[in-house]
Amino acid sequence: MAKLYFNYSTMNAGKSTVLLQASHNYRERGMQTYLMTAAIDGRDGDGRIASRIGISEQADTFQPDDDVFAMIDNRLKQGQIACVFVDEAQFLSEQQVWQLARAVDDLNIPVLAYGLRVDFQGKLFPGSATLLALADEMREVRTICTCGRKATMVIRQDQHGNTITEGAQVQIGGNETYVSLCRKHWREAMGA
Ligand SMILES: [Zn+2]
Repeated sequence: MAKLYFNYSTMNAGKSTVLLQASHNYRERGMQTYLMTAAIDGRDGDGRIASRIGISEQADTFQPDDDVFAMIDNRLKQGQIACVFVDEAQFLSEQQVWQLARAVDDLNIPVLAYGLRVDFQGKLFPGSATLLALADEMREVRTICTCGRKATMVIRQDQHGNTITEGAQVQIGGNETYVSLCRKHWREAMGA
């Protein structure tokens, strides 16, 4: 039976690197994979999954209103694939996560989704909340805080390094940077 996997992490944990390596392992063995990423993330140019360590691959992009089940079904009609990889899965809508689950159940294709668990205010992204509810298996892609503890939270900073405590969940193209921290140091940074 195929499964829906959710690989979650905080920012800068290297989840895109893990995704691209996993996809490469299939392709090295002569199997095809289908890569998808959110259109909302223009950071690496349209239709690419890029890792901070310098590797990247072409990917189909999904918009908030796209039917991702139909996208996977259409790809399958062009030839067999071993599995589907979805990057920036936190940007999936609740409905789109159900569409992924339907692809797993009805098309019998494994789907591996990679995404951030919480935003800079410590709140679940809608896509991640639904994946936490529906995934068959979950794995954490780990990174560490400056103190050496596991980082599970993220802060948004302005260009002067000041912590931003309010604002939209998704901010594209600004001068903000993100720093991953353990919960204790996130609380200190947020003044909470
Ligand atoms: Zn810490």
